[in-house]
Amino acid sequence: MVDLLPEHTPLWQHVEATAAAHFRRAAVREIRTPLLEVTELFARGIGEATDVVGKEMYTFLDRGERSCTLRPEGTASVVRAAIQHGLLSQGPQRLWYGGPMFRYERPQAGRQRQFHQIGLELLGFAAPRSDVEAIAIAWDLLADLGVGGLALELNTLGSPDDRARYRDELVAWLQAHREQLDPDSQQRISTNPLRVLDSKNPATQALLEGAPSLADALSGESHERFSCVRRGLEALGIPFTLNPRLVRGLDYYSHTAFEITSSQLGAQATVCGGGRYDGLVEQLGGAPTAAIGWAMGLERLVLLLAGAGPAAAAPPPPDLYVVCRGEQAEARALPLARLCRQAGLAVEIDPSGAGFGKQFKRADRSGAAWAAVIGDEEAADGVAILRALRRSSSASGGSSGEDQRVTPEQLVALLREGR
Ligand code: ATP
Ligand code: MG
Repeated sequence: MVDLLPEHTPLWQHVEATAAAHFRRAAVREIRTPLLEVTELFARGIGEATDVVGKEMYTFLDRGERSCTLRPEGTASVVRAAIQHGLLSQGPQRLWYGGPMFRYERPQAGRQRQFHQIGLELLGFAAPRSDVEAIAIAWDLLADLGVGGLALELNTLGSPDDRARYRDELVAWLQAHREQLDPDSQQRISTNPLRVLDSKNPATQALLEGAPSLADALSGESHERFSCVRRGLEALGIPFTLNPRLVRGLDYYSHTAFEITSSQLGAQATVCGGGRYDGLVEQLGGAPTAAIGWAMGLERLVLLLAGAGPAAAAPPPPDLYVVCRGEQAEARALPLARLCRQAGLAVEIDPSGAGFGKQFKRADRSGAAWAAVIGDEEAADGVAILRALRRSSSASGGSSGEDQRVTPEQLVALLREGR
């Protein structure tokens, strides 16, 4: 689990603000759910047979002996909340969420035990064009952030009937080739056979070239639906490649599955993963509700953007740096800073009590455009000396760079003019 230090947070804030703006323009509203849920929610909402539930959850008994889990993803909680608060009876919901998720994984670059996601959930949307819209929102956000080397991989899992039929075929084939599979994949034959398709084991991957294909198992209707999605993406000019191995292993996932990767990331290349989960709301106790969504990993985004120029801009410096020395002067500094802050200016006070020379050096390093200097004499008169620290501030202040003796009110007025 990782600390985000002050030098890191500006980039995070930039990413979060950009995402929030995209969601707002797409008429998607934010939902915030607790970090902690009863374990049962994820067992049912993600599935016992997945790595996430099987191996990665932070699960413990609370003081009331209830099994609790730190959320490993956002979708199950959003769907729970939508059901619990009757949101779905008010019509389709366009929701987004963001925040920390927890998975007990092996930490490495782009993979942490506490990590952050933002995600989109369109609940009550069945048409293929909603798949296209969901993907477009993710694509445009990543493009706007300036993420390079983007690629969209697309697949369809077909309808639940298609999948059930394919699953039987695949299981029969995997059984027949059991000896040649890696141990993980052997185990998945009974628990989660579709996930064998995206096994990372090279020998298994080679063997799978001969496996029955999901595309062959699709009904005419599923084919037509998928081609609608592809045409929609083409119409928007969003490039994609088809990846028949891209699966989400659970029964309530259907039709569209997709991932967005960046060639500029190493082994952990996926920044966004999503798909259609028409069966989930019902699985969690709601009325049958079509839905599509995605989740994006912010650590990987930040890795991509770090050092990428404008996006990584440092926070703006304060407008004013207060240099003060002597007990009287120091007592005047905070009221002055407070007055300025109430007027919307950013102010830093030198706390050191050091000599003026040292304080001016610090004032300069702070990047502030102006310094307000208070010594004993100024304190006694209830004024400060306003000094331009940057060429541009002297110009906008209209003072040709000379020090000015000003009351706090005059100082505020001058600075607000100069901004
Ligand atoms: P991966 O194959 O990388 O483990 P996943 O299929 O487990 O991904 P999802 O559950 O689809 O990932 O989560 C969506 C996104 O969240 C991922 O594409 C990735 O960007 C990010 N993500 C997932 N797990 C982590 C993690 N442990 N640390 C950082 N980011 C993560
Ligand atoms: Mg994972």
